Amino acid sequence: MAVATSRMTGESLRALPGDDVRQILWRFRDRYDLQMLVQSARAVARGPVARLVAQGARNTHDWTAEKAELLRAYDESGITAVFMDPSQGGFLEGPKNLALALVAYELAWVDAGAATGSLAGCLALSPIHERGTPEQRDYYLSRAAPAPPGEDRQPWRGAFCLTEPIPYVGVDTGLLGGKVRIARWDEGGEPLLEVEKRGRFITNMGFANFVTAAVDSDDPRIKGSLMVILEETDSGTFDRGTPTRKLVHQLSSTCDPVFHMTVPASRIIGGYTVKDGVIVPRYSHGEIIEAVFRRTRVTVAIMTSAKLLSAIEPVIRYGRGRFRGSAGSAGTPRYDLGLQMKEDVVHRLVDVWAAGEASASLGFQAARLFDQLDPLERECQQLFDQRGLRGSALAKARRQASKDALAFLSGQCPDLAGDPLVETALLDSVANVLCPACKLWNTGHGSRMMREAVSLMGGYGITEDCPGFLGHKWMDSQLEATYEGPESVQRRQLSITMADELFLTQFRAWTREMRVIASDHPGTGACALASAMQMWLWSLHHLQGATDADGSALYHSARQGVTFPLADALCWLLASRAQILDVMELAREGPNSPTVAEGLPGLFSFLTDLCHVQAAHAAGEVGRICAELVFGYNRHPAWDSDGCAGCYQADDLEALESLIPGIASLARGYSDVIEDDGSHPTKAGPCARFDGLEQFSRLRVRLDGCLTGSRLAKDRAAEALTKVSIPEALDYPA
Ligand SMILES: Cc1cc2nc3c(=O)[nH]c(=O)nc-3n(C[C@H](O)[C@H](O)[C@H](O)COP(=O)(O)OP(=O)(O)OC[C@H]3O[C@@H](n4cnc5c(N)ncnc54)[C@H](O)[C@@H]3O)c2cc1C
Repeated sequence: MAVATSRMTGESLRALPGDDVRQILWRFRDRYDLQMLVQSARAVARGPVARLVAQGARNTHDWTAEKAELLRAYDESGITAVFMDPSQGGFLEGPKNLALALVAYELAWVDAGAATGSLAGCLALSPIHERGTPEQRDYYLSRAAPAPPGEDRQPWRGAFCLTEPIPYVGVDTGLLGGKVRIARWDEGGEPLLEVEKRGRFITNMGFANFVTAAVDSDDPRIKGSLMVILEETDSGTFDRGTPTRKLVHQLSSTCDPVFHMTVPASRIIGGYTVKDGVIVPRYSHGEIIEAVFRRTRVTVAIMTSAKLLSAIEPVIRYGRGRFRGSAGSAGTPRYDLGLQMKEDVVHRLVDVWAAGEASASLGFQAARLFDQLDPLERECQQLFDQRGLRGSALAKARRQASKDALAFLSGQCPDLAGDPLVETALLDSVANVLCPACKLWNTGHGSRMMREAVSLMGGYGITEDCPGFLGHKWMDSQLEATYEGPESVQRRQLSITMADELFLTQFRAWTREMRVIASDHPGTGACALASAMQMWLWSLHHLQGATDADGSALYHSARQGVTFPLADALCWLLASRAQILDVMELAREGPNSPTVAEGLPGLFSFLTDLCHVQAAHAAGEVGRICAELVFGYNRHPAWDSDGCAGCYQADDLEALESLIPGIASLARGYSDVIEDDGSHPTKAGPCARFDGLEQFSRLRVRLDGCLTGSRLAKDRAAEALTKVSIPEALDYPA
């Protein structure tokens, strides 16, 4: 059903998007269980969590009795049990990535430290959940679930211990200082392991009953690295260490622990075999953390999205109430709008809101993707196990699945539709991009946009009293950008996964999809986005084959100056695409929901305008980044020092022509397209060796043209912000 737009009906955005709208955008309209979970998590966030923050609990990094009360609130509200299957004491069947993302969103709406505290328990269990033996899974997950009515026990709390004191594990997760040796191995008995591990910045450590720790072998009878489960009652030292003197996420507990313990080898996560007298763990620590982080990073990304969207209401309220003046009276613009009379104030808030929508869309898209992937992954694992595939044979089978998936996409093998290996390869290639992309962009760009939100509150923004705790949220977002791998980790991963042909083939299809959307819904900015996607892809291919002025290859892992910005550019595109797809979902499903349908024209037009604003930002970023990379590694042919050949006069072009045949005609061709102020006859082009760069400049011109109307969209969105109704007061703290 086509949605009437506000321009047809004259309607504006009536209210801030409520649950009914979010359920459609983020696709849990049919999941009553998740809707209930959202309500429970919200009650905890806007109740006990908000009260703790308002009472100043964030003023200490110590783990206090008041903060510990939150654990009980998580247990009683169902937050703790989200991670478990019903057989282990949970209540949600099937994959839980979207569920966990929604919990993170609700808690981080008020305080991301509270969200982290709750999710760190899941992080501790994740190695066991993803790669543990069935016995380990049942044992630890059921103990970590809150006791059912009538059973008197405290749930076990866990901590995930990877990071070590300097100079060991941090960004580089391979540099393990933690060691494991065989303490005793009786004939025919189970080996006992001596584990030595020091942790740094370990969340939940103030109260954890068990720890999942990464260690390396320091014994020829143990192969490689592994992850091991340590319990507080195991023999040896279980020292929680000193609390981290952190400035952020004060509602979670963080310490630098020390462990020196003896545990049975059955604690090796995933189990082990014995080959020629050597313990061979089924999974290295690297394999386990890869499986863990690719899911848990999505929830971290969502935390920053929640903050941006939570800032909208307080900023609107502040703006409207400011500068009313004692003599002001209702009905005058000054009284009703206050600061919102100023264009910059509402424009900047539009930017914050657009970024928040895009990042939430990207994060929830990634969470849903992992929900799709989880059962397929298990099915594939069973297939591989049945065929006895391990090591290089397994890698070969995976490569073949990728080739099959490519053949399927090209239409050569339609009978592969529904093949679990092919489906997994397709989803995997996207998940390998979406996860680092949302962690990187949502938190990195999100923290920059949080600063914008804070600045709109003036001095209030950087006080403890700021409504919505925006100052805290700004600081906290930097931790979200850091833990579970800072931005460099995500960029490094993206620089590999985004160049995978299986991903790129799907990316090409997405570009075409945006062109189709643009033809029906040009107001979304999908056209600008498609052009930017095209430019990014062109630049990637160009840089993969290009060299710099000294003949060194540009696209390789050590050249982070090339690969990292290109990864950043991709994130902008992915976020904008996810946002547009969500709004298209609203166009489809909105009319079917009575509560949404009522105000749909105004809502749809507003969210469409936000898409346009964000697509224009994305296109601008991509254009800037790609132009720098494509042109920036060439040395000017005629100059010794830095400078821009765009400043050459027409005469100079003839001189350049002798150096680079064809350059003059090319430049004149551009001057037909791009007019400058007369002294700059050629804005684009001459700064480089011209192997194919003409195409780039054409793309650039096209991209700029695609920005048509984006500022009008911003003006409309800004006007809507001056009219939208908001509640009288924030619903937290109580
Ligand atoms: C409050 C808090 C809670 C935490 N909770 C946990 C937890 O529960 N469990 C756990 O195991 N860890 C935890 N951490 C640790 C966190 O994951 C690490 O701090 C993070 O992964 C970065 O490691 P690092 O601090 O050693 O940074 P470093 O490794 O020192 O890196 C610093 C910076 O150097 C640059 N850099 C480093 N390497 C590269 C490279 N190869 N390429 C390009 N640039 C590079 C990047 O800019 C990077 O941000 C927590 C941290 C904090 C602050």
